[in-house]
Amino acid sequence: MTPDLMAQGAARLATQAAKPTASTRGALLQAGPDFRNGVALYVEDISVSFDGFKALNKLNLTINVGELRCIIGPNGAGKTTMMDVITGKTRPDVGKVFFGSTIDLLMLKEPQIAQIGVGRKFQKPTVYEQLSVVENLELALKADRRVRAALFAKLTGEQHDRLNEILTLIHLKDEGERTAGLLSHGQKQWLEIGMLLMQDPKLLLLDEPVAGMTDEETERTAELFLSLEGQHSLVVVEHDMKFVDQLTEGRKTVTVLHEGSVLAEGKLAEVQANEKVIEVYLGR
Ligand code: ADP
Ligand code: MG
Repeated sequence: MTPDLMAQGAARLATQAAKPTASTRGALLQAGPDFRNGVALYVEDISVSFDGFKALNKLNLTINVGELRCIIGPNGAGKTTMMDVITGKTRPDVGKVFFGSTIDLLMLKEPQIAQIGVGRKFQKPTVYEQLSVVENLELALKADRRVRAALFAKLTGEQHDRLNEILTLIHLKDEGERTAGLLSHGQKQWLEIGMLLMQDPKLLLLDEPVAGMTDEETERTAELFLSLEGQHSLVVVEHDMKFVDQLTEGRKTVTVLHEGSVLAEGKLAEVQANEKVIEVYLGR
């Protein structure tokens, strides 16, 4: 058995051991995700059909706590559908999705999944164009979690510090008072990532985050993601191989999706040399 299979087996055992009844589910949610076995996201044999067409076909994926995982693959491979399943937008026909070892994401609705610490960035930036950068970030905090917002209301100092920290992270320190609508496409993307970060998600799902960015913006986005690695687990779907190369630093695992399941997994150089991957995705 490969170490990967062993890790998957361990994660499976953990999820089986912690099958909650309806009465304990509330308590598990209250306690938040349990990451003690090192697994942030565990996806097992997920299938999704649209009118008989299998967008996902027995998909398996394990993301470790603090890991930055890049997912590549041709258009239609099921990458976005995978994110739809994890975030509760799409219900799979079969399979399991666990956040940590105790939270069964398939039992939760979309807002609950966001609330428990799964943040998602869609392809198109969706910021409040008429508001300033800072106002957008403030709103991200308030729109979410009533309890947390109340908590922060008393801790304005801490809230302020966090906001400034994020402004620096997303390279918008000097643009705080600027109207969001006036930002460049890349800056809007960063602002939306900042809005996600205000909610302090444990797992971040980023769907083609550098599409439409300049080379410089792309590089800075990679630096931003690398700085988030460790504190957060990140799943990044992207076609830009230079960006993926920068993110994986020659050593991290890349997953290749094709026809709704994992075609290959390994270091970028390994999957780039994989004949099947070349045939269906990268070309010669
Ligand atoms: P990717 O993000 O890898 O390009 P998607 O997950 O968007 O792929 O799509 C996978 C397949 O599922 C595609 O063939 C797409 O047309 C199909 N699909 C996705 N969402 C729907 C839907 N809501 N209804 C019907 N087909 C869909
Ligand atoms: Mg997609």
